[in-house]
Amino acid sequence: MTTKEFLQWQIRRTELAIRRAERKPNAPAAELRGLREKLDHLQVALEAVEEHWRRVHQERGWSDNGPAADVRPVVHGRFVHDGTRFAGGVDWWHCSNCGSLVSGVETRFAFCPHCGADMRPKNEGMKNEDN
Ligand SMILES: [Zn+2]
Repeated sequence: MTTKEFLQWQIRRTELAIRRAERKPNAPAAELRGLREKLDHLQVALEAVEEHWRRVHQERGWSDNGPAADVRPVVHGRFVHDGTRFAGGVDWWHCSNCGSLVSGVETRFAFCPHCGADMRPKNEGMKNEDN
């Protein structure tokens, strides 16, 4: 799941929760306020992610589907933990190579889901060339 898909999924879930809360006989005002606030945060986050990608694609001249697999350069990176970014306690990381936001699920990938950088430990299967 990409960061964008993760956010879209969260937005769908929050919209459903709002609809459910609105249907209650005495719609709980505080709960609804909290949910609408969360929805706002998620939409701002989604816009930021989409804007970031428009820029990256422009700079690199990529198609909408990102770089083709066979021209993907072998670069190494790692996921850098940013802590909690948004109200609601969602933890975020970013790729040290391309700087893209990465969700918790994506940090388990062996490659950056955005730029394709190899996120596996560098000394796996090769000697450290720097020392
Ligand atoms: Zn990356």
